[in-house]
Amino acid sequence: MKKKFKLEFRKNRCKGCELCAAACPKHLLAIDKSEVNQGGYHPIGITDQEACIGCASCAVMCPDGVINIYEVE
Ligand code: SF4
Ligand code: SF4
Repeated sequence: MKKKFKLEFRKNRCKGCELCAAACPKHLLAIDKSEVNQGGYHPIGITDQEACIGCASCAVMCPDGVINIYEVE
């Protein structure tokens, strides 16, 4: 069975730099303009969780440790 992954964001740490978005081979990460975090930034979000392949490129790229990736059932 195909593995599934879930991303968890520490949204209040996000500075909206989009380095993670640039690193995603599936182009799944985008700034969420509907939200403003404690730092006054629009934080990153995932557009299609089902399409994530769990490569962790985004988490590795983030300078602020915002992204955690979990394998789910
Ligand atoms: S784990 Fe990989 S596929 Fe999933 S959002 Fe991050 S960079 Fe994209
Ligand atoms: S999650 Fe990290 S790399 Fe992505 S926009 Fe936020 S601070 Fe930048």
